[in-house]
Amino acid sequence: MKDFAKKLIDWHQHYGRKGLPWQGVRDPYKVWLSEIMLQQTQVVTVIDRYQTFLEKFPNVQALAQAPLDEVMALWAGLGYYTRARNLHACAKIIVAQYAGQFPKLPEQLNELPGIGKSTARAITAFCFNYPASILDANVQRLIARTHGIQGSLKSRVENQKLWDLADQLLPKDAQSMPTYTQALMDFGATVCKPTSPSCHNKLSPSCIYLADCLAFKDQVVMQIPLKIKKVPSKIVVSEMLLMIDHSEILLEKRPLSGIWGGLWTLPETQWVEIKSEEEVSQVEFQIEKFQPLISLVNPSKYRQGKILAPLKHVFTHRTLYFSTRIVKVLKSEVKCNDSCQWIKLSDLPNFGLPTPVKKLLEDFQLLKRV
Ligand code: SF4
Repeated sequence: MKDFAKKLIDWHQHYGRKGLPWQGVRDPYKVWLSEIMLQQTQVVTVIDRYQTFLEKFPNVQALAQAPLDEVMALWAGLGYYTRARNLHACAKIIVAQYAGQFPKLPEQLNELPGIGKSTARAITAFCFNYPASILDANVQRLIARTHGIQGSLKSRVENQKLWDLADQLLPKDAQSMPTYTQALMDFGATVCKPTSPSCHNKLSPSCIYLADCLAFKDQVVMQIPLKIKKVPSKIVVSEMLLMIDHSEILLEKRPLSGIWGGLWTLPETQWVEIKSEEEVSQVEFQIEKFQPLISLVNPSKYRQGKILAPLKHVFTHRTLYFSTRIVKVLKSEVKCNDSCQWIKLSDLPNFGLPTPVKKLLEDFQLLKRV
């Protein structure tokens, strides 16, 4: 497609997104952080968190030296917690093996934890003017539509086609790489959107690619990218234990792998799969279901605990309904394994909690709402 990059850079001067805190930044640490935070998370959510994170960890050395729990606490609520664990692991490697300097080649960055091919290329394009194309979901959609690629973008063949095209469309002048890369992201997010793309709009100028766009010409814009039918989400139920001894509660640290990995939650039973939402309230749990995590000297205290109505939390492939049982105990009445710890309520803000658990504790005013 003729003048693809030039048209995009011209467009960006007038219509690109303005005022995002990571725009125009050339510090690889900050660019890396914003790229990781923006994966699967909306811009509005990231804006505040990005700034808070940078205040706490202003550079890669500060992040590498921090305990993982502190990083997780700051990440809590952003979801996809593997990102935070990888961020921490990656910072340690950069400090230990690269003397705190980010490598300048995409291939080197791509070998570090949590840095995929497109992210590696975005960092080098933004920070070092490296002539490397990116291919996040926004860019995939734009290139697929303009070039009429109607197959599944997840297939290896179509994906390779997209990378090849992305490389061919790069601007000739390496100095333009930061602007071009930002423009690609902005255009996909604001013009060639997944729904209601602004191809031809009476209120604003038509899309700069209108004359050449194959999807528009063939009237298949909304069929690209090809939508794969989603597998219906599984429904699971569990029970969490809110054990309170005066001003302390019992929390469990999750293993690093798996859901909520590395975060602190209320002790929870295994998830039980059910067929439909009607069955949620039919599943009953016993204290034995918390073993080997927890056992009580006097199990009747568990039975006397007050049970709250189930709360719903939606994951990508599962919907969880968890009820919470409030049990007032003395610490000496509870036997728990090493992954559990009694935490003072005043210390709770220092612990990374999954969003639904945090909300529950806030609703009970055990944790101050911020
Ligand atoms: S014409 Fe429509 S589909 Fe084609 S690039 Fe522009 S906004 Fe996207």
